[in-house]
Amino acid sequence: MTREPVLFVSHGAPTVALEHGPYAEALARFAAAHPAPRALAVVSAHWTAAGPVGITSAGHHRLIYDFGGFPDELYALQYPAPGSPAVAARAAALLQAAGFTARLDPVRGLDHGVWIPLRLAWPGARIPVVQIALPEAPAEVQLRFGAALAPLREDGVLLVASGGVVHNLRRVRFGDTAVDPWALAFDAWVAERVDELDAAALARWRERGPEAALAAPSPEHFDPLLVAMGARAPEDRAATLHAGFAHRNLSMRSFALRSPAGVPPLDTKGEAA
Ligand code: ZN
Repeated sequence: MTREPVLFVSHGAPTVALEHGPYAEALARFAAAHPAPRALAVVSAHWTAAGPVGITSAGHHRLIYDFGGFPDELYALQYPAPGSPAVAARAAALLQAAGFTARLDPVRGLDHGVWIPLRLAWPGARIPVVQIALPEAPAEVQLRFGAALAPLREDGVLLVASGGVVHNLRRVRFGDTAVDPWALAFDAWVAERVDELDAAALARWRERGPEAALAAPSPEHFDPLLVAMGARAPEDRAATLHAGFAHRNLSMRSFALRSPAGVPPLDTKGEAA
């Protein structure tokens, strides 16, 4: 079995679930071009763990509408993907083997950081989904957490890390199409480090990233990016799925880490597109 990719998705505002713009198209295009994985294992900014790391182990999940003040139709959306107790157990074993404490959670459902991007990418909801909590831990631990989960990729499980490169809700201005310079600066710095596959620099985002305190006043939306980088295989390369901003400064930057094998070769004639 070939190794599945790792995705980092910026999930933006919940209203993205109702939009049909370039972001939704980019997620759908990635999924359509890729053979269906055996399962999806998702780490989201909206389920963090200070203690043992929870893993959803139900055969079927309910959805968690963990947002307020949005249009009624958002609360009616469904995503009836099955769970996978087998993948949950495997994830728990991998985490325990790497020194993390994990616990299976047969009750918790999927939060909006999971079901909104998955519903845009795989709207059929046929692929089993397991959500894994994000540790509340330093950056270096987030990289190790990703590395611990990386063997799932060999089992046909596509890892998705869902957060946001720039995420400062106090500065969001709904519907404003201008982009704040500080958001552009941090997003560009992250994009360059991802292209260079420089996980060590990304782990030092607070000191090294320009305007980091504004771009990521709290770490939970940035940490999934580190989990994704930690799950990278040596031969993986980064491929941008989407870049852009919503609501003045919410970065929607999303990328895949995957082996160059199976990816169509670049145009070696060097002709401009
Ligand atoms: Zn979020």
